[in-house]
Amino acid sequence: MFIGIDDTDSPAGMCTTYLGAVLVRRLKSAGLTIRETRLVRLNPNAPFKTRGNAAICIEASGRPETAFSIAAALIDDLADLSCENTNPGLVVTEERPDPAFYWKAVRDFCTIEEAKEILEENCALYRGWKNGRGLIGATAAAASVLPDLTSELLAYRRREVWGTPRSVEKASIFAAEAATYPHTWDSADPQNSVVVCVPHTPDPVLFGIRGESEAWVREARALVRAEESEIEQIWVTNQGTDAHLVDGTIGRLLEGRSYRVQGTVAERATTGAGGHVSLTILGTDGERLRCMAYEPTKGFREIVRALLPGDGILAVGSYKNESLNLEKLRADRLVADRLLRPPLCPDCGRRMTSAGRDKGYKCRECGRRAGDPEIITTPRAIRTGWYEVPPTARRHLSKPLVRDQGEA
Ligand code: ATP
Repeated sequence: MFIGIDDTDSPAGMCTTYLGAVLVRRLKSAGLTIRETRLVRLNPNAPFKTRGNAAICIEASGRPETAFSIAAALIDDLADLSCENTNPGLVVTEERPDPAFYWKAVRDFCTIEEAKEILEENCALYRGWKNGRGLIGATAAAASVLPDLTSELLAYRRREVWGTPRSVEKASIFAAEAATYPHTWDSADPQNSVVVCVPHTPDPVLFGIRGESEAWVREARALVRAEESEIEQIWVTNQGTDAHLVDGTIGRLLEGRSYRVQGTVAERATTGAGGHVSLTILGTDGERLRCMAYEPTKGFREIVRALLPGDGILAVGSYKNESLNLEKLRADRLVADRLLRPPLCPDCGRRMTSAGRDKGYKCRECGRRAGDPEIITTPRAIRTGWYEVPPTARRHLSKPLVRDQGEA
């Protein structure tokens, strides 16, 4: 059976994955067999998400009614039901719901009615608390298929320290990252000297190690020195897989979806208040698209600023408020960085001036004329290829470039 759960947390605390980790232990104690623990991230632009739009699915064998009653009791006990925006959903189904619903929840928007319709068709056991919005994520998690997947080991704090500062030895995180990269990633951002895998929110997560397999996240975890955890759970995830992306065309992008879009740089990027960088690219029919690299994307903004009019790029990110918020980009075609200026007069050595439109150049001193300008070519600051935001600014679903290393 597939046990899907979502929307149990609030900004004040709890985390659906923690509830799932506790549930795994309770199901085992009740004699059920756990087959897989899956953590899926859904549309990062979903309007009611608390943080990273996570939902979980536990694949297990046993009596569905037993699983349902244990899970429902745990949600009653742990979910932060006092928060208006916490509307848990629980689904237990022996048939995996149509994966199309999962893809819609990752790439688009779904309604509670759509989720219920699928659950009815599947004869699933389900319950929505309050407005039941969590049934969307719970159904999507149960319906999920992961053609590409990664692992995350999540360590959870003991209850008595929830809400207090986390005690994690920073140097050990950098050491774990150094020892296991590129098989694990985003525990730290060495370039910006920041630990990425320890949250600052009041939820139960102590830290999370992301990597290509259970073996690698375990290896990295063994190197981390931190306060004692209550429990630890390894999840199979769609994180770092680009599952949210579809190919898009400038002029035809829909709000709240995430795209790969081809375009030609219209003009040099500009830097606005707060250090946010804006770049306009053009579609084949001249439609314009504003791409944003916000201040937290740090050094990535230098890449965007280095682009020149005429460069061809593949821009990747979410389309929100009529801007594509860049997660990464591929520079496909770079124009020569050429500056044209009037030539020096071969007779008197002075800089000539324009003789008028399409009339070449003229020396104001001696009257000599010349046709061609002087061309100054500056080497480009960037090369063709992929560029990405640093780990500190990475979205859960974004595939780190390092995952493609070694692939054809
Ligand atoms: P956490 O990461 O800590 O679990 P969260 O960011 O996952 O928190 P939730 O509290 O789960 O946030 O809230 C997200 C809500 O949005 C859920 O009710 C979920 O069912 C719903 N939801 C998720 N994806 C979509 C979607 N594509 N369309 C509509 N609703 C969605």
